[in-house]
Amino acid sequence: MIASPVVLVYHGVAAVGDDQDPNRLLVSPEHLEAHVRLLRRRGYCFVAAGELAGNGKPSGRTAALTFDDGWRNWLTSGLPVLQRLGVGGTFFVCPGLFGSVHTDVAGEEGALLDEAGARELHEAGMELGSHSLTHPDLRKLSDAELAAELGGSKAAVEAITGSPCRLFAYPYGLYDERVVEAVRAAGYELAFAWLPGPWRPLEAPRLPAPPRHGAGRLALKLLGLRRPGR
Ligand SMILES: [Zn+2]
Repeated sequence: MIASPVVLVYHGVAAVGDDQDPNRLLVSPEHLEAHVRLLRRRGYCFVAAGELAGNGKPSGRTAALTFDDGWRNWLTSGLPVLQRLGVGGTFFVCPGLFGSVHTDVAGEEGALLDEAGARELHEAGMELGSHSLTHPDLRKLSDAELAAELGGSKAAVEAITGSPCRLFAYPYGLYDERVVEAVRAAGYELAFAWLPGPWRPLEAPRLPAPPRHGAGRLALKLLGLRRPGR
């Protein structure tokens, strides 16, 4: 059984097939909704991921929805689902990639948000976090490059929200001890990894939500009966 809090991680939101999205980065609005409804039926209470900062680890069954990479379809396909269900989400953006295109997804659904789009999400009551400036493997950067990726993206998110950016998600879920220390030094309070594990605020576990399946597959993952990354 995956321990509470269950922090699900998604990328973009759109109904596409493997031909357009071979790496399965996009989840359909229907599957996203099925996941939320399953967790609600199981008694999970949804919070914004930022509420897990500080003392973190609330008692009881708690879940949070997180989304990585800064997709334009968050606004067109993701936000309407969350608003209809009355749940919040935390959206991790790469300000250095605003307005560009994700190379792994063909066509319109590969488009990334621009700054105005990120502001729109914030104004809709969603939480924004940093996913670095340009999505590198942080372990491979010099100390100066690392500080620029962490500090630059934090400042850019704060310029949009007008409040401290406390949340980070590691690009590709990759980090080492030096990267964790740099994240701490940059002033982040909660930094998310990619896979389940023990709760540590700067290596906080997440569960990749099944991008092509609904409630049944998520239920198996919650029980630990399927490999978390699949
Ligand atoms: Zn990413």
